[in-house]
Amino acid sequence: MCALKIKMKVIDIIKDAENSGLTRFAFELLPPLKGETIDSIFTTVDSLIGFDPAYINITYHREDIKYIERPDGLLERRIVRKRPGMIGIAVALKSKYGVEVVPHLICGGLSKFEIEAALIEMDFLGIENVLALRGDSLKGENRFVPHPEGYSYACELIHHITDMNKGMYVDSEIENCHPTDFCIGVAGYPEKHGQAPNLSVDIKYLKNKVDTGAEYIVTQMFFDNSKYFDFVEQCRKAGITVPIIAGLKPFSTKTQLSMLPQIFHVDLPDDLVNAVTACKNNQEVREVGIEWAVAQGRELIAAGVPVLHFYTMGKSDNMVRIAEKLF
Ligand code: FAD
Repeated sequence: MCALKIKMKVIDIIKDAENSGLTRFAFELLPPLKGETIDSIFTTVDSLIGFDPAYINITYHREDIKYIERPDGLLERRIVRKRPGMIGIAVALKSKYGVEVVPHLICGGLSKFEIEAALIEMDFLGIENVLALRGDSLKGENRFVPHPEGYSYACELIHHITDMNKGMYVDSEIENCHPTDFCIGVAGYPEKHGQAPNLSVDIKYLKNKVDTGAEYIVTQMFFDNSKYFDFVEQCRKAGITVPIIAGLKPFSTKTQLSMLPQIFHVDLPDDLVNAVTACKNNQEVREVGIEWAVAQGRELIAAGVPVLHFYTMGKSDNMVRIAEKLF
């Protein structure tokens, strides 16, 4: 059978895992930098495919602003996308490995017309899973500025996708449009999103994303499982009933001690900070990161979490060691 014809919605994969009581794992890949080949992606997937990942996420990277010095000494502002190609990678993985794929799609930098074009392309290529996100602000901007013809929040993007699932496209003059059939995932933040005034407000907006059509939630990374368990409890109290996939990041460098809290607004437990601080080099940090992720994974599996989502950042050596111990 042609691998591209193998289609499964992430929500069905999650439900199967819930029903069987067997936790699965998924991982994220970053498209390679512009100018590089897809080979690094294949190398990563080659090393992990034997552990039967539930699906593979492919991240979306919005444009960057670059200032180039012109011969007259003035600076020219250029817009560059350093890691394009998430749809191509998704299709390449699906066809080479027969694995389900989840491209990420963001609002940042895109008009609703460009968003729709990307979704049409995904639909034509047999992709029926998407993680719908707002995206972050551009470097140098202190708040998220939407595209003038785009969206301010992920819920608007979800609305767009659910409209397409009903055969309603942006151009309302076209009649009898083919309804797409996307399964939509969204992001959730156990330690609240960095811009949210507090967790309960953030959860209120998360519920809005679910009510608009999201079928499951993937959490931001967390290093203390109690944050995840508390978050799930608060979501359930707020009436969110969809599965909540746990996001884990294997710690790998000392600089992450300051970088991860700064970028992702997450707390690092004392024991982890002390263990990483005591490491002589990053090789030792990677060992600590593997041990920590395995311990987190064991507890989450015991609690019946259906899928663990690993933020691998395209590096698979530590992920292989974690998968050997957990799956
Ligand atoms: P939203 O849900 O829109 O929330 C953004 C903020 O606005 C929150 O503070 C929320 O409380 C608030 N809010 C939400 N709705 C409303 C509303 N209706 N009115 C007022 N306030 C509201 N980024 C990328 O660029 N590419 C990726 O591939 C990518 N993948 C990710 C994968 C996961 C699993 C996660 C957790 C994050 C990912 N991100 C990615 C990062 C994400 O884009 C950022 O965290 C972004 O700042 C918020 O995205 P969101 O979809 O959660 O936004």
